[in-house]
Amino acid sequence: MEFNRASATMMSLHSEAHHTHCWIQSHSYNLFSGFVFLAVALLPILLYPHPNLRKRCQEVTDFSKDLKKLSEDLLETMYASNGIGLSAPQVNVPRRIITVDITPNRSDPKVLINPTITRSDNLTLYEEGCLSFPGFYEKVKRPHQIEVQAQDVNGDKFTLQAEGVKAVCIQHECDHLDGKLFVDYVSKLRASRIHKKMVRGNKPK
Ligand SMILES: [Zn+2]
Repeated sequence: MEFNRASATMMSLHSEAHHTHCWIQSHSYNLFSGFVFLAVALLPILLYPHPNLRKRCQEVTDFSKDLKKLSEDLLETMYASNGIGLSAPQVNVPRRIITVDITPNRSDPKVLINPTITRSDNLTLYEEGCLSFPGFYEKVKRPHQIEVQAQDVNGDKFTLQAEGVKAVCIQHECDHLDGKLFVDYVSKLRASRIHKKMVRGNKPK
């Protein structure tokens, strides 16, 4: 998911969350320890309507060094693209892996492997962007609060509670793992206009 517009909303939510203590983290990562010797690579991001963006991704079963390298590359690619979320299929890897960091100073990298949303409450409307649709933004209605279960890069299971932009971002990225895109939530007319513009390579609006 793209950073710019969502981040403005996120800022206001963040100050709200400060008072309500809603941003619960039940797990913290130590993703980078032991892997400082691996060079990070930026990966090309597939643009809609690439057909691989519509495929369902496979579960990750091999928690090897390669997975850790891919996770780091995903995070780096997300940061370099000014994104707050990225999924493996967007870099043409059909595996169930997403990365998320909604913090303005990029200080909260999260990698979720085989994520499953186990609870969702209270619908909300956010303007979403997607790194596979550069420059396009659409209002999408999704649950405001979620609980997600996933594995870390070592295969250890954890549960994460999220709300607001973070919850929206996780849901957006989880959708990618099933070949679902944010334009699937907008009207057919609107989706068709975006489709035509993306196919022609035109800029939005
Ligand atoms: Zn996306």
